[in-house]
Amino acid sequence: MSATYEVINPANEQSVKSVDLADLAATDKLIEMAHKAFTSWKKIAPGDRAKLLRSFAQVVSDHREELAALEVTNAGHTIGNALWEADNVANVLNYYSASPERLFGKQIPVANGVDITFKEPLGVVGVIVPWNFQMPIAGWGFAPALAAGHTLVLKPAEYTPMTAMRLGELALKAGIPEGVFNVVHGDKVSVDSLLTHPGIKSVSFVGSTPIAKYVYETGTKAGKRVQALGGAKNHMIVLPDADLDLAADAAINAGFGSAGERCMAISAIVAVEPIADKLIEKITERATKIKTGDGTKGADMGPLVTKVHRDKVAAYIEAGEKEGAKIVFDGRKVVVDGDGFWLGPTLFDQVKPSMSIYQEEIFGPVLSVIRVKSYDEALKLVNDHQYGNGTAIFTNDGGAARRFQNEVEVGMVGINVPIPVPMAYFSFGGWKNSLFGDSHAHGTEGVHFFTRGKVVTSRWLDPSHGGINLGFPQNT
Ligand code: NAD
Repeated sequence: MSATYEVINPANEQSVKSVDLADLAATDKLIEMAHKAFTSWKKIAPGDRAKLLRSFAQVVSDHREELAALEVTNAGHTIGNALWEADNVANVLNYYSASPERLFGKQIPVANGVDITFKEPLGVVGVIVPWNFQMPIAGWGFAPALAAGHTLVLKPAEYTPMTAMRLGELALKAGIPEGVFNVVHGDKVSVDSLLTHPGIKSVSFVGSTPIAKYVYETGTKAGKRVQALGGAKNHMIVLPDADLDLAADAAINAGFGSAGERCMAISAIVAVEPIADKLIEKITERATKIKTGDGTKGADMGPLVTKVHRDKVAAYIEAGEKEGAKIVFDGRKVVVDGDGFWLGPTLFDQVKPSMSIYQEEIFGPVLSVIRVKSYDEALKLVNDHQYGNGTAIFTNDGGAARRFQNEVEVGMVGINVPIPVPMAYFSFGGWKNSLFGDSHAHGTEGVHFFTRGKVVTSRWLDPSHGGINLGFPQNT
């Protein structure tokens, strides 16, 4: 081990735990353990693998309070959100527990035999996750990987390793054999090893766009299959006919929930005039009731994950002010008892598309209102943006909503729904700079990413076999 890393509770700045940070040798050792375990894990009958996944889901459910408490201490989430996150891990495991039986191939009858295709795992998988929602996001990688017969090395972000490490222990408790589910607490050194080690066959990554691009390019160059989900800047269009109370509730939830540290957070509200003033009034009324504080003590919004990140988000607020946006309420003024990386909700009005607070991902509790005159102008903003993770439209006009769902260039769309919450059953992922690779995470695309097809043509000769024939088979 090269160094130790101090995990800090962002709600009181106290040390949670000192954790070893893996160096190259320690990372490679885990990859090799996973490699060794692969042959036997792949051979476990699909039905038996399904039972182990169900057992893992049950163990996670049995430990949901403990996992949620760890996440609150480590990432500053509220307890309600963290319980949802633990449940999402169990749901995704349960969904994929049906997969080993569902990894259907095809059978095609041909002359005197059958062609069959079936799906096989690729080998050892690297699962690299960010600090926000690291528990469910880890599950989106490890559940389909295990279901398809892979072994894996999971790498959480440096600041938030607690639940990943515990999930590694719970996998063993559930009966998953040693060496199948490995957790490495590491940094770039471990990521680079996962991207280049010949023992790794595919990499599933979620994080910021520059690193997602780096991971995709480095991993594919080394011959791996890679899916790399990146950053986001999600727009919510509010048309003049929308229910403004519903839209304001949604803006509050999707803008400030999880302190805006969600890849599905709404950060740009595109208000189609004349409703901007009214909408801002309703959002402001609601925002004054948000209690910022320790997620274990009934707060609605917890701290930001680290001091560096808190200061980065505050610097964006300063930049927005300097660039001429109007601050409606300012999160820098929040007062919370005790130490912690605090920042309250901030709302900007009069934001212009050229401003950095509009162009870049802030990843904190900062909402921007952009005023436009028409639906077409609003749509163009969304489609011209570099990110295409999620978006939403609020309207009572079914025709406008249908037009939007067909015309918008974004991977996940909500209609009178602020964020399409990542359920186990459908795949999750964006377009443009929000995704590098071909497939989205979990759901049916998860099965696709974690398998490859094999075609087998077999023929069993019968007594009518006619001897040597150098022509092509006549399978008509
Ligand atoms: P990040 O890119 O900094 O880190 C993600 C992972 O990459 C971590 O495990 C980290 O250790 C590793 N890493 C960091 N720097 C690296 C480097 N130079 N070389 C190799 N590996 C490196 O992202 P983050 O700050 O942990 O997470 C927040 C970001 O994740 C936001 O941009 C957010 O939008 C994004 N995110 C996206 C989704 C999605 O579904 N698209 C979901 C959650 C979070």
